[in-house]
Amino acid sequence: MKITVVAGGVGGAKFLRGLREHLRQVAPDGAGGSTAEVTVIVNTGDDLWLTGLRVCPDLDSIMYTLGGANDEVRGWGRLGESERVSAELTAYGVGWPWFTLGDLDLGTHITRSHLLREGLTLSEATAQITARWNLGVTLLPMSDQPVETHVVVADDTEPDGTRTMHFEEWWVHYRASLPALRFEQHGLETAVAAPGVLDAIIGADVVLLAPSNPVVSIGTIVTVPGIRAALQSTAAPVVGVSPIISGAAIRGMAHACLSAIGVPTAADAVGLHYGARSAGGLLDAWLIDESDAALAPALETAGLRVASVPLWMTSVDTSAALAAAALAEAAGLTV
Ligand code: GDP
Ligand code: CA
Repeated sequence: MKITVVAGGVGGAKFLRGLREHLRQVAPDGAGGSTAEVTVIVNTGDDLWLTGLRVCPDLDSIMYTLGGANDEVRGWGRLGESERVSAELTAYGVGWPWFTLGDLDLGTHITRSHLLREGLTLSEATAQITARWNLGVTLLPMSDQPVETHVVVADDTEPDGTRTMHFEEWWVHYRASLPALRFEQHGLETAVAAPGVLDAIIGADVVLLAPSNPVVSIGTIVTVPGIRAALQSTAAPVVGVSPIISGAAIRGMAHACLSAIGVPTAADAVGLHYGARSAGGLLDAWLIDESDAALAPALETAGLRVASVPLWMTSVDTSAALAAAALAEAAGLTV
């Protein structure tokens, strides 16, 4: 079975770890731990050059999590990390002191930057970097072209009353506390889907939209030319998982992104924002939390199948149960 997942960073990583665990449980003797082939289309709209290095936050969040090398307590970066190099960079006055790149993590960024300067595409560099980690899934960047998300915020001290900054500055430095007027995604409209991305959607048996940021992760990926059309035309069922539970973005600041595009922070609003494929949208089915079950009728009226299941990914087991529910919903759509 070919499963294609569309994913951002931390929410995507937790969901994928559950999916891989579920597949191992149902087919422990299969090739590579399971008979399913999982391809992940990863957001690269948060990528940036920092102190001469190409940093791809979402690719690395997924790689470290599936590689068993992420810091579970902090929620991002490498386990057992140290920050000696970053301290030196700060002493030299370069980089962003609030965007610490740990020493082990820097090894990844140096390798990626080296490969890109040697002339490899981001897809080729990603294949080489992920080969070390035995992930059990294939990670594809959404595009080999750089896409940079910038955030426009109000600023009275500027002549035009606005200021623009890289998404990561707004997200990490300001913790999304400056109200976003809009997002500008440089390079997105001319980006080309990376090799294998459209085929992975068209040729899939199941497509899953991970519970990732609907605006700057999933929203970015589906705006790469060709990807939305592939999702709309694939014969595979497309099942999405809500990143919003009981009107809150879990462990995140997705609400600050949703409000910038005028979408309420609610599981029904995000499902309706994606829309039913039968009505020109992206989804066949939408998984919402049990606590949001009352929202189901409005979503069903809009043409979506809805399942209310536990959406909290508090452990590998709860993530695996969620992935199983998403696959069961997909199976229900194919019979
Ligand atoms: P980022 O790129 O690191 O910001 O991560 P993603 O785009 O993959 O997803 C971040 C979003 O994942 C958060 O804003 C949450 O809405 C969602 N999320 C995080 N943990 C959970 C969880 O346990 N369950 C669900 N359903 N969503 C979650
Ligand atoms: Ca991200």
